[in-house]
Amino acid sequence: MSTAVAARDVAVIGAGAAGLAAARQLRREGHSVVVFERESLVGGTWIYTQNTEPDPLGIDPTRPVVHSSLYASLRTNLPRESMSFREYPFVPKKSGQRDPRRFPGHKEVLEYLKDYASEFGLGELVRFETEVNRVWRMGNGKWEVRSRKIGGKEEEEKDEGFDAVVVCNGHYSEPRIALIPAVDGWPGKQIHSHNYRVPEPFRNQVVVVIGSAASAVDISREIASVANQVHIASRSTSAEEAAMLPGYDNVWLHPMIERAHEDGTISFTNGFKIAADVILHCTGYKHHFPFLDTKGIVTVDDNRVGPLYKHVFPPSLAPWLSFVGLPYKRVDSRHIIGRILLPSQDEMMKDVEAFYSSLQKSGVPKRYTHNLSGYQFDYNDWLAEQCGCRKTEEWRRKMYSATSLNRQVRPETYRDEWEDQDLVLEAYQDFEKQISCKDVSLKLQNFKI
Ligand SMILES: Cc1cc2nc3c(=O)[nH]c(=O)nc-3n(C[C@H](O)[C@H](O)[C@H](O)COP(=O)(O)OP(=O)(O)OC[C@H]3O[C@@H](n4cnc5c(N)ncnc54)[C@H](O)[C@@H]3O)c2cc1C
Repeated sequence: MSTAVAARDVAVIGAGAAGLAAARQLRREGHSVVVFERESLVGGTWIYTQNTEPDPLGIDPTRPVVHSSLYASLRTNLPRESMSFREYPFVPKKSGQRDPRRFPGHKEVLEYLKDYASEFGLGELVRFETEVNRVWRMGNGKWEVRSRKIGGKEEEEKDEGFDAVVVCNGHYSEPRIALIPAVDGWPGKQIHSHNYRVPEPFRNQVVVVIGSAASAVDISREIASVANQVHIASRSTSAEEAAMLPGYDNVWLHPMIERAHEDGTISFTNGFKIAADVILHCTGYKHHFPFLDTKGIVTVDDNRVGPLYKHVFPPSLAPWLSFVGLPYKRVDSRHIIGRILLPSQDEMMKDVEAFYSSLQKSGVPKRYTHNLSGYQFDYNDWLAEQCGCRKTEEWRRKMYSATSLNRQVRPETYRDEWEDQDLVLEAYQDFEKQISCKDVSLKLQNFKI
């Protein structure tokens, strides 16, 4: 992501999808790259673990952190073709115990990311089981990175200087909780979806699920198979729409919770009241950079990480500090990370201010700053253009829309039934043009049969 042609020493924090892609491109540009990774393997979020945090709501800042928020049954909510890195298609593999489904389980995504890292020799750049504890800028403009081996002693901490730091630490680990009036006096249990793994603990319980995004949809349906009742509280349900979820006899949709009560009941804004055992917050995550000290230049304010030019560069620190992978509700810009020519610091700052003020004028809360819903492809294309890369493929755009529509029409079965087979064919034809890969050819042969 550097404007400079000279080789630089760059630290990348995190070896998830974003860190791997950033490391690959930086090395291609001739930089010397060290990727710091807490875990013992690449893949980030996609490394499933049964472990959960001792604080089920994830609000205790001293708690031991579990990075991944995956639940055991998770399958992707996007088709594998549209999750593909452009130069390394995510195609079904014949070998071993791979999951060939178009919307595969989480293990398959992890395998794909491991394959990606090994295809491009990225593992050799990664310092595994090494946690970054502090990153700060020295007087000479260089960045100091303090890291420690997991389980290592404080005196074994190591400080190293880098020209640039790319932050790719993920943004699905620090829970955001719904504010529920009087919940402190409510006697039930609360948990955030970050700590949800399997439905069994909810057997015979009355569960209130808050949220309406992908995790809330998946988890509430899964819990319904064992729970006594599931009540989904969602901003997107109006009082008039409150009803039983079609296809279920124990799941109800409600508008938001009004308050909790000391007698164990929860009341909703539609007047409905229920005695509940558990509140499950599927309410998303907060951006969190506990290791980053920019002397207040970059802050997180109501989940806006800023000021950031195009969600990547703090103008006064660019290009020496950058953030990759912040935007969400995106198809993904991972496939177009490359070199970008930056305008002046002043111009970048003006652009950021204009962007923030346009959000304010449209009444968009700060916490949705990095939500690119509705213009993610324009953003990707803009980035691609700056980097001299091809724009988003037409099939990728169309497939995203087709999947979103299919998810609405077939919320229960969209991962196994679809009508965009023509786009799948287009995707594979495109993959074949870019890369000669045995698995792509095999898949194309299947189309021809
Ligand atoms: C439940 C769930 C379902 C999802 N489903 C999909 C889907 O279907 N399709 C899709 O495209 N995306 C999905 N996503 C989004 C997914 O997070 C992204 O696709 C992508 O994997 C994010 O990659 P990342 O590299 O930004 O972050 P991560 O994958 O989170 O990687 C960050 C890495 O940084 C490391 N790290 C963090 N802090 C430190 C530190 N201090 N020192 C050293 N290392 C550190 C972590 O260990 C981790 O390996 C889902 C996310 C969640 C939570």
